[in-house]
Amino acid sequence: MAEAKTVAFHTLGCKLNFSETSAISRLLENDGFEKRSFDEPADVYVINTCSVTDNADKECRHLVRRIQRKQPESLVVITGCYAQLKPKEIAAIPGVDLVLGAAEKFNIVQHVKELSKGDSAKICSCDIDEVNGFNASFSVNDRTRSFLKVQDGCNYNCSFCTIPLARGKSRSDTVSNVIKTAEELAVRGVKEIILTGVNLGDFGKGVSGQEEEEIFFDLVKALEKVNGINRYRISSIEPNLLTNEIIEWVANSNKFMPHFHIPLQSGSNKILALMRRRYKRELYADRVSLIKTLMPHCAIGADVIVGFPGETAADFNETLSFLQELDVSYLHVFTYSERDNTKALEIQPAVTINTRLERNKILRNLSYMKMQYFTQQHVGETRKVLFEKCDKNATMEGYTDNYIRIITSQRAEWINNIVDWTI
Ligand code: SF4
Repeated sequence: MAEAKTVAFHTLGCKLNFSETSAISRLLENDGFEKRSFDEPADVYVINTCSVTDNADKECRHLVRRIQRKQPESLVVITGCYAQLKPKEIAAIPGVDLVLGAAEKFNIVQHVKELSKGDSAKICSCDIDEVNGFNASFSVNDRTRSFLKVQDGCNYNCSFCTIPLARGKSRSDTVSNVIKTAEELAVRGVKEIILTGVNLGDFGKGVSGQEEEEIFFDLVKALEKVNGINRYRISSIEPNLLTNEIIEWVANSNKFMPHFHIPLQSGSNKILALMRRRYKRELYADRVSLIKTLMPHCAIGADVIVGFPGETAADFNETLSFLQELDVSYLHVFTYSERDNTKALEIQPAVTINTRLERNKILRNLSYMKMQYFTQQHVGETRKVLFEKCDKNATMEGYTDNYIRIITSQRAEWINNIVDWTI
C-alpha cells in the first residue's frame, strides 16, 4: 500500500461524526497522506457512517457505487456507527474493502497500510461491550468554530435508540486534557467551541468509563478560564442532567452562550415512560422556566420524536399543547422509524407512516412559528455576532450569542471576529 498517498472522506450523521472524521483525517495526514475532496480522484476513500439516518444503508451503497464507477482501483473503507451495527451487510456491498468498527476506527493508519484491493472485504470489529477507551476529536471549520468531542457512548437505554449499541458505554476525556485541547484550538485561532458528546451531561466517567471523580460542571468551570476562546456552546444535554448549577453558571458566564439544546422527545408522560426517558414533562418545563427566568433572551432548542409506537392522537395532542405553551425557540422534529434490536419494536400498536408524517408536519410548522417569534422578540437589540467564512454568493453569516442566524454581505475584516450587530 506504499503508493497510496491520497485520501478523501465523506461523513454522514451528527457533529460527533464530523469531529471524528477530522481526527481520522489528521491521523492519515500525519502519516503522509494528502487529503482530497470526495469528488476528486483518491487512492483511499473513507466513509464515516451513521445509524440514525433512515437510509444509512442506501446512502452507503450509493457512495460506494459512485467510487466504483469513477475510481475502481481505489480502496474503500467504511467506519462509524452503521459499520459497528451491521458489519457483514456493509462488507457485502460490492467495492467495499475494509469495515472498521468502533474500536478500530482510530487505528485506521495501520489497517489501511496492510490493505490491498481484493475480492472480499475485511471486517475489523469487535463486540460493542469490549469497546473501551476514549479518542479525543475536534473539527475545525475555517478556524472560526470547533466541535470538540469530550464524551462518547451512553449508559442509558432509551427504547428507540441504537447509539449505545453502536458507540458503547459512556466514557469521557479528563478535564485537564480538554483544557489542553481548548488551549491548542485557541492558538489555531478558534473563537468558539461547541462541546459535543453522545450524552454530554454524563461527562466524567473517565476514559475507561469507570471513574466518577469529575462531573460536567467541573469541565464548564475550568473552560471559562481558557485564554483566547471567547465562546462556548453545549451542543445538547439531557434535561435530567442539566442541573441548576449549570444553568446558573451559564447565566453569569461571559463565555458560555445563552443557548441550550435539550432533548424532550415527547410531551406525554405515558410516551416518555415507554421511551424509557429519565424524566417527566414537569421536569422539562421546570428546566425551561429556570433558564428563561435567569436569561429571558436565551435560545432553547428541543428534539421531539413523532409517531412513536403507542402514540395515540390524544398523546400527540398532549405533546402539541405542551410545546405550544413551552417557551422554547425551535424544535428538531424526528419521525420515529423502526430500528433493529431496540425495545420499541415490542410496543404496539405502531403508528401508520402517514400519521407519522402528518404529525411531523404539524410540529415543523410550530417550530417555524416559534423561531419567528423568538427572533421578533429581539429585533432592535444589539447583540454580539461571530461571523464565519464568506460564501460564493458574496454573503457571510454568523450567529448571535443567543443563536439567531445573521446573513449579510461580505466584509473581509469581520471573518472570525465578534461584531456588535443590531438585529
Ligand atoms: S440518552 Fe437515550 S437517546 Fe440519547 S444516546 Fe443515550 S440511549 Fe440514545
